[in-house]
Amino acid sequence: MSPELTRFKSVMRQNNCFITKQRLALFKYLQASPAISINALINDLPNQDQATVYRNIKLFERIGIISRLQLGWNSKLELSNTFHDHHHHMSCVKCGKVVAWEEDPTIELRIQTVALKLGFIPQDHQLEIRGLCQSCQK
Ligand SMILES: [Zn+2]
Ligand SMILES: [Zn+2]
Repeated sequence: MSPELTRFKSVMRQNNCFITKQRLALFKYLQASPAISINALINDLPNQDQATVYRNIKLFERIGIISRLQLGWNSKLELSNTFHDHHHHMSCVKCGKVVAWEEDPTIELRIQTVALKLGFIPQDHQLEIRGLCQSCQK
């Protein structure tokens, strides 16, 4: 069993949630997928009842398994930081493609410094770069 799957099971157990076939499938789907919109997610899990997917998304959000990224006007879902390394996103304003980019130690340090300077103890942040992807530049 992968460490992510072990963690998933323990988060579910801590919150007294049953691990149903649908919930496991949803988790595994998100594990393999880049940030995805709710509609695309519902379309991509065709064997699942729409209302069930929707309910499970809400549940996962509530217990911290997934986080919602606000990308421009839309929001996308991905597994929370508990399940992967901290990273930032770049999104295309034309086609909506979202790319994750590796954490950059210089930026991380700058963010910490700025927060501390303003008297904040930073706990988490999101950073998004909006622009045109390579294929939309043509
Ligand atoms: Zn694009
Ligand atoms: Zn960061």
